Amino acid sequence: MPRVTAIIAAAGAGRRLGAAVPKQLLEIDGRSLLEHSVRAFDAHPGVRDLVVVLPRELAADPPAHLRATRKPVALVTGGERRQDSVAHAFDAVPPDTDVVLVHDAARPFVTAGMIARAIDAAARYGAAIVAAPATDTIKRVEVSGTSPVVVETIPRETIYLAQTPQAFRRDVLGAAVALGRSGVEATDEAMLAERAGHPVRIVEGDAANVKITTAGDLDRARARAAQTMRAGTGYDLHRLVEGRPLILGGVDVPCERGALGHSDADVVCHAATDAILGAAALGDIGRHFPDSDPAWTGASSIDLLRRAAAMVREAGYAIVNVDVVIILERPRIAPFIGRIRDGVADALGIAVDGVSVKGKTNEGVDAVGRGEAIAAHAVALLGRLVSRP
Ligand code: MG
Repeated sequence: MPRVTAIIAAAGAGRRLGAAVPKQLLEIDGRSLLEHSVRAFDAHPGVRDLVVVLPRELAADPPAHLRATRKPVALVTGGERRQDSVAHAFDAVPPDTDVVLVHDAARPFVTAGMIARAIDAAARYGAAIVAAPATDTIKRVEVSGTSPVVVETIPRETIYLAQTPQAFRRDVLGAAVALGRSGVEATDEAMLAERAGHPVRIVEGDAANVKITTAGDLDRARARAAQTMRAGTGYDLHRLVEGRPLILGGVDVPCERGALGHSDADVVCHAATDAILGAAALGDIGRHFPDSDPAWTGASSIDLLRRAAAMVREAGYAIVNVDVVIILERPRIAPFIGRIRDGVADALGIAVDGVSVKGKTNEGVDAVGRGEAIAAHAVALLGRLVSRP
């Protein structure tokens, strides 16, 4: 696995948009363009660290989300032109980095797939950019007088529209940055890499990976942006036996009988884990943390829930809420619900008002009703921002 640093270029003033705040702080669906871009790379399993280039005033007083990332983030002040900003950022890239991604913060709809394809191609070939094939017929023109005149029609198959991320082996981007510093002007890093003699590969982009440049782009992006919601459900049951603790959501509940299992047999965590994994279609607890693997014997289930939440985030989802029902004849769990909610919310990395825990008895019916077992049901809701092309 190459060690990957992502540079997020957000130093522009965004003058073409005519807004009072810098473009990168304009919001789509409740988050700034910058935050959407940073989250995409922070959540990507192939990216190790980030360098964010900001205008001077923002670098001095950065938005709070930049202090709440999972991965290390270096903040760098931008330069006069885009290439100067990327050159500043390049100086902050850790020396042991293998591949450097450069992404424009004004493209908030970048996907995990694009990031992965760019990394793979750069690791293999040295340089690669995400680009979309042209769909319109392309005319080369000569500008003379009042209206441009068509000189030729360029075969569409030979035209790709460059997007970001652009990805480079560290030495290739180093050569491109050096060329830029020597006085060569370019509109993107790929152009400098080409000039430095490095072939740049194309990997598949997407028309939905738009760059927000004008007020119209922003309006269209806001109209297209949709928070897709995904629901998942989880269920778990363990036998109750004497001589075992009863752990619910990581909380030790005093009881003459406890739940039997390889792990701590925490039905709340097991059901919640399956619910969030299920909502992301990532399989289930048994697949990721199998009983047969000694690594998980005696594992704390609240830690497994925490790991599952990280997997769900890496897949690009935010956890909206989780609702759990515990079915248990006795003891009454009401006195423990506050602590259970706190522990589950902490493991999920969300506020406690996103976690509900309720207790039920089975009215003496069946094995749960006879006190021979404990069960739990959980429902989880996940959200992710997508762009409808
Ligand atoms: Mg279980």
